[in-house]
Amino acid sequence: MRKQIAAANWKMNLTSLEASQLLNELLAIPHDLKSHQEVVFAVPSIYIPLAVSILAGKPNIYIAAQNCHQKNNGAYTGEISASMYASVGVKHIVLGHSERREYFGESDALLAEKLNAVLAIDSTPIFCCGEPLAIREAATQNEFVEAQLKNGLFHLSATEIVKVVIAYEPIWAIGTGKTASSEQAQEIHAYIRKSLALKYGVAIADEISILYGGSVKASNAKELFSQPDVDGGLVGGASLIATEFAAIINALK
Ligand code: PGA
Repeated sequence: MRKQIAAANWKMNLTSLEASQLLNELLAIPHDLKSHQEVVFAVPSIYIPLAVSILAGKPNIYIAAQNCHQKNNGAYTGEISASMYASVGVKHIVLGHSERREYFGESDALLAEKLNAVLAIDSTPIFCCGEPLAIREAATQNEFVEAQLKNGLFHLSATEIVKVVIAYEPIWAIGTGKTASSEQAQEIHAYIRKSLALKYGVAIADEISILYGGSVKASNAKELFSQPDVDGGLVGGASLIATEFAAIINALK
């Protein structure tokens, strides 16, 4: 079975004290991760050493970065590379979140470079895609997302693509409280998997985890994750509340 993943995206939230309290509260809530289940915490970079020390030795729990630079090192003031993250124990990197695309002008071409940098050091990219409201209203979301995959991902070889986690996040559902229905999520996840199958073959497409993101919470996670092509979630707001995120973890297939 492909990996089922509950990924927390803390974005630019919490103080250091709040971050450690949240992780400790979560650890105190019983969870029973199966071998095909993973939990990932995409924390602000400055809290990575803290999170690594709190979560050290916990099986199937990983820390992620929310972004990285496309180069390994050099004169890029203020930036952090994938290999720097790996050197402190972080091998998952979220790439192409819609907030990065929108507020920091990240293009598919730049994301393709970042993907290459992450894969070159054998880390795991969590590649985000998803359409704005106008595209959903025009019912062209499949084509829109497929173009993001083609331009950002499909230059990868078959051996590289199986290392990628995809997160489908409709922008109209992020932080709005408006969730895609489980049918809407399943429909586009199946479309994404079909696109992967057409490019890389069914066996490879079946191995790739596709997460849903956009107002996932304890009350809707089970229904969303029960869909055959929804392999867990990328969770913003609800990942900042221990009981909410614990329930989301427990909703994994
Ligand atoms: P949300 O954010 O769960 O707060 O909608 C999801 C995301 O942006 O990853």
